[in-house]
Formats: sequence, structure tokens, C-alpha cells
Amino acid sequence: MHSVSWLIGQVELDVAGPERHPGCVCGVFGVWGHSEAAKLTYLGLHGLQHRGQESAGIVAMDESGRSARHLGEGLVADVFSPAEMSRLVGGQAIGHVRYSTTGGSGLQNAQPLTVETLRGSLSLAHNGNLVNAHTIRADLEHQGSIFQAHTDTEVLVHLLARSRAPRMEDRLREALAQVQGAYTLILMHSGGLVGVRDPSGFRPLVLGRLGDAYVLASETSALALIEATFVREIEAGEIISIGAHGLTSERLVHEPDAVARACVFELVYFARPDSQIFERSVYESRYEMGRQLAREATPDADIVIPVPDSGLAAALGFSEESGLPFRHGLIRSHYVGRTFIEPEQSIRHFGVRLKLSAVRAVLENRRIVVIDDSVVRGTTSRKIVGLLRSAGAREVHMRISSPPTRFPCFYGIDTPTTRELIASSNSVDEIRDFITADSLAYLSTKGLHHSVGDGDVGCSGTANPDQTRFCDACFTGAYSSGADTIRQRLEVLQTEAPRGRTHGPKT
Ligand code: AMP
Repeated sequence: MHSVSWLIGQVELDVAGPERHPGCVCGVFGVWGHSEAAKLTYLGLHGLQHRGQESAGIVAMDESGRSARHLGEGLVADVFSPAEMSRLVGGQAIGHVRYSTTGGSGLQNAQPLTVETLRGSLSLAHNGNLVNAHTIRADLEHQGSIFQAHTDTEVLVHLLARSRAPRMEDRLREALAQVQGAYTLILMHSGGLVGVRDPSGFRPLVLGRLGDAYVLASETSALALIEATFVREIEAGEIISIGAHGLTSERLVHEPDAVARACVFELVYFARPDSQIFERSVYESRYEMGRQLAREATPDADIVIPVPDSGLAAALGFSEESGLPFRHGLIRSHYVGRTFIEPEQSIRHFGVRLKLSAVRAVLENRRIVVIDDSVVRGTTSRKIVGLLRSAGAREVHMRISSPPTRFPCFYGIDTPTTRELIASSNSVDEIRDFITADSLAYLSTKGLHHSVGDGDVGCSGTANPDQTRFCDACFTGAYSSGADTIRQRLEVLQTEAPRGRTHGPKT
């Protein structure tokens, strides 16, 4: 086991190399059958902004099959001006917000992607990460295909373009049979929109209606914003086609050989608390995680405070279950983005202090339980403990409403490589020392599954793969889709010399 000093003295890995093909936890949105499809998409993307702040894009298509697209770097509100919006005409549109992965940024990786094919214009918005994209890309390049960007989505477009099948659904089936990993897709072609969730259903996708129009969105938060009614979720491994024919549904794979594995980290952190995904309220799930955490690890303390906003719902649940009063001990500035937004480590370094300030009147001389949803590198927690102590806190007990994040995600969540995950090579006690807390406890894996409605998940604390409908690979290392490819890549990463620039302790 490596010590904490080993970890913080490490060379930073460039995770955007060929081993971490830039996929993304992004937001996708689409409207069919509305004269103001692009404007609705613009609004819908606002409702998904938390899923990606690096770039945004919209493509609209008119009745003659002509498409117009606008992409830009930054937030939705900054990317689209009235002049640009006025070009995006037609009864159907799709949009995308892209999350910042470390590297692979810039306009060339922005989506939706639009290509002109023999069958007309085709646009694609993708959320997820393909485990074997680099191998497929290498094969395609060997056969003469030319790529412009580095996204998995371009690999999908090439696979689609090569298929000879007459129906879009069959072309998709053929293309997607070759890929492993996570993909939620919205496609737009002259025949209408197509929505797909991979057979594991890692990333969410919901269907809504607005009058006669159909809406597809990553989360219900986007439906609520445009006052569309929630109809249902697209099922794992389902292809849904929307067009003049109405709505049809078919299976991506005929035999249900893949078990549904929705990403539990969407419920822990990523999705918006007012959303309903994976048949659950995100808010209620987090509240339950907090209650369960209190059952497992309530210390002797005076008050409980959340790390806003990510720890809010869990802290309320913790407070209810433990009986400790809930207070706002940290105030968040809403004028800076998430600390992960800026890929530059030097900027992220300042992020915590820019974002959070401590309320001395609440904290002074008190024993504080502070709740956050997760610890990744440990940088944020360490800063927060320091902040609380400098505002007079007598004791700081850190409680995390998910298990230790020990493994990188290959299905689209932007976690660093194993080396950078503090829990991958340090015990809970070592992490407690690094973040300088008086005590530290995480929610158990069993407790997490219990909080999201999984039944009996086994006594060892590890989910029984037959009984869980969630992917918890970032906590357990139990990768499902593309597990062999992932194992090989993890081995390569472990033996490879670290690349990139060096840095001192990330505090
Ligand atoms: P760290 O400083 O690296 O330990 O980051 C921990 C903080 O980042 C926690 O407050 C989490 O809410 C947040 N977090 C966890 N996972 C992610 C992610 N994939 N993207 C952005 N923020 C995250």
C-alpha cells in the first residue's frame, strides 16, 4: 500500500491519452414535431447544464432535410445569440452539452456531430464512453477512414456510415454490435429522431411530450423546464424512433444477454436532484444515502452541515436520522463553476476557496459533521476541513455519502486514473490524516445499494451482481461491459510511466 505522500508526490497522468478516449458524461436533448424545436432545445440544454459546461451545440433540421448547426465553447447562455438561434429552423432539433474531461477539450470535440451521407444529413449527440473505441478507430484508420476529432462519437458515425442496411434502426444495430461500454444516443435524420440506450443502460434517457411534439432528454429536469410531460424512461437496450409514423420501439439486442446496470454515481452526484431517473427520485436517493450513513457512522457531534450543493440532500437525511441539528456552515458562491470544470489543475487548485466560504457564527467552538457525496483526489475535503477549522470549528468529522472511489470509470464519468484516486492506494485512516479531519467515514457499498432500492446485496458489503441493477464499478471494480478490455487497459496503465507535468501536493 502506498502512503499519502507517495500519492500526492506523483506525476500527474494525462488521462486523455489513447487509454482514456474522450467520451463524456454529457447531456443530450431532442425535439421532434415542433415549429420552435431549436428554441425548445436551447431551453432544454439549460435544464441539463449541470451535465456539461465545456461546450454546447444544437442542430436543427427543416422539412426538406436541410440542417443548420451551431456549436460553441462554454455555457449554453453564452454559446447561442439570437442571431445564431434564428438560423436554426425546422420542426426537429437535437442538442448536446459536453462535460469537461481532462484534455480532449475544445470545439473540435463539441457535439452534436453532423455528417452528410448518401442518405442525407445525419446528426448525432452522444453521452457515455465506449470502452473499445480506440481499437475500432485504429482498425478504421488502417482501412483508410479519416478522423477529425478524438471523440467516441466520430467512431460511431463511421460505423453507421459503413453499414449497408436500409433502415436506420438496423444500421444502428449493426454499428452498435461492435462497441462495448456506455452510450445514450440521440440521432436526427430526415426520417425523424432516434433515441438509444446501451444494453446496460449506464446513462439515463427519458421521453416526454409537449402537445403533439415528442421530447427526448438525459434527465427529467430538462422536461420540467419546457413544461413537457414525462412519459417514461427509454429502457436499457431500447431503440425508440420518432417521426411522421409516430413512435416505435424495438430492441437493440434481441436476447437480453446484458444485465441492466444503471450508473449509481448518477444518483450519488451527477444528476440534478429534481430529476427522476432510473425509476427513482435523485433527491430521495441522496436523502436515503444520508440517513443510511447516519445509521452506520454518527459521531459525537453538535451539528451537521452539508458541502453545498453536492452534500445537501444527504446532510438533511443524516440530520433527520441522527437527530443532530442541520445548519448551513458553508456558503457557496454561485458565480463560479464546479471545481472540476477547469481542466487546468492550477485553476482547479483555487476552486474550493473561490467556491466556498465558512460561517463562523455557525461553526465556532462546535463539533461539526460535514457531509459530502464523494472524495476523488481528496483535495476538496482537505480544503474544506482547513476552512472549517479556520472558522473556529472544534472538531471536524467528515462523512461521505458513497463508498471510497477506488477505481476509474470507463463508462463516462470523469474520474481520474487509479493513481490519482486517493482511495485506490490509501486506507480510510490514511485519507483521514491527509484531509486532516478528526474522523472520516464512508457509506458502505451495501448501504449505498440499500439506499437506491436494491434488495439484499450480500453480507460482505459487495453487491451481488445478480441482485443489483446498478453499476458500482467505481467503488468495487466490478466492471461489466467490456470487462476484459478494461482489465487489459488497467494493466497497461499500471505498468506505464506516468506522463504529463509534475506538481506538488494538490492542496
Ligand atoms: P476531490 O477534491 O478530487 O476529492 O473532489 C471531490 C469533490 O468533487 C466532491 O465534492 C464531489 O462532489 C466532486 N466530484 C466527484 N466526482 C466528480 C466528477 N466526476 N466531476 C466533478 N466533480 C466531482
